Amino acid sequence: RVGSGAGRTATDEILEELRGIETIEQDLLAVQTEDARAKAVANERYQYALTLIGILLLGLSAWATILVRRALAAEAEARRMLQRTASSDEMTGLSNRRGFMDALHRSVARSSDGRKELAYAIFDIDRFKSINDTYGHAAGDAVIAEVARRAVATFRARDLVGRIGGEEFGVILPAANQAEAMEACARMRAAIEAEPIMIDGKSIGVTVSVGVSQLHREETVESLMARADHALYEAKNSGRNVVRLAA
Ligand code: GH3
Ligand code: MG
Ligand code: MG
Repeated sequence: RVGSGAGRTATDEILEELRGIETIEQDLLAVQTEDARAKAVANERYQYALTLIGILLLGLSAWATILVRRALAAEAEARRMLQRTASSDEMTGLSNRRGFMDALHRSVARSSDGRKELAYAIFDIDRFKSINDTYGHAAGDAVIAEVARRAVATFRARDLVGRIGGEEFGVILPAANQAEAMEACARMRAAIEAEPIMIDGKSIGVTVSVGVSQLHREETVESLMARADHALYEAKNSGRNVVRLAA
């Protein structure tokens, strides 16, 4: 059959058939490979998109955190401002009665065990009514402001001067013993008397009377203030422009 050529034709036909199959398989493989490649590319894109969204969300949350922090800081600042406004006196810039009393309660609480000294003083402008009557209410206001300025300038930085009434001031002197407190108040009294206060070209002589009390062990704020008030009363009665120590 080989000799006749019939077998060779058959073998050729089979080979031809096999090549056809191979081509089909190769085509199929190519299609499958292309399909897999396309899927891989799509998958990769999907991952990129997810990563991008992740980064975007991260950025967004960081931005939101910054905004929230800023809002909180602004709110805290507004609260501080409000507190300052609520506890300070507009005319003098000192603590008002409320702010001063808060501070005094805190100071007394810290010193009531007797381990730390605390002095308290109250001072009041002498014959202030006649200043108002003579120079007018606006001049009276200016006198109050100048008295406050001079007082603050003479006390130590750690002392707190507050305006606790119209022309009445309180002073907290932390860690000051009786002698130091008396000396500080005498210096303040002298500083106010030393130079007349100039208002609208008019020279106004101003003096203050002072009552000083030293905190006793376990003493209340009320008692500490009452003793200083009494000393002030005695200072006024003894002719004014003096510092008196409470009993
Ligand atoms: P004394 O020496 O006994 O303290 O006499 P005084 O006249 O200072 O005392 P008094 O308490 O009788 O009068 C205080 C006056 O202070 C009464 C009030 O009209 C005035 N006064 C209170 N607050 C203010 C204020 O904010 N501005 C002005 N201009 N006057 C005020
Ligand atoms: Mg008064
Ligand atoms: Mg007065």
